[in-house]
Amino acid sequence: MSTIADGKVVAFHYTLTNGEGEKLDSSHDRGEPLPYLHGASNIVPGLEKQLGGLEVGAKLQAVVPPGEGYGERGGPPPQPVPRNAFPEGMPIEKGMPVQAQSPDGQMMMLFIDRIEDDTVYVDHNHPLAGVELHFDVEIMSIRDASDEEKAHGHPHGPGGHHH
Ligand code: ZN
Repeated sequence: MSTIADGKVVAFHYTLTNGEGEKLDSSHDRGEPLPYLHGASNIVPGLEKQLGGLEVGAKLQAVVPPGEGYGERGGPPPQPVPRNAFPEGMPIEKGMPVQAQSPDGQMMMLFIDRIEDDTVYVDHNHPLAGVELHFDVEIMSIRDASDEEKAHGHPHGPGGHHH
């Protein structure tokens, strides 16, 4: 029986709640388990670590502290950006990631913190930074990754990357 290890493509169902028991996300809402390539940092490190060695059908309740999840909150407060600085027609929603260029030309990932009239506040912190993550997980499938998947560092096929 195969177990979860580096180089395996794993699909799992999960429900994610915070420390207060509020549901944040669930694969069940999308009707398909989430595939990832184990050992390629596709998922938060604290969860990946706890999934190692599990078999199909295994259920796990994993508590992941912010340091092994989306990080601690830090840095400057969310910065205001005029709505018209974003491409016309681009949907803008709270929590959405946006790529931006820093003054020194580096690409960086920012997240939309909130929208007030014509001003969008962007934050360096992931929306789940500082949150203790409670995962309720069930392992649905495990298979060997193809050489191409290993080279790309992510799974292909249903629920994975299409390209
Ligand atoms: Zn690929």
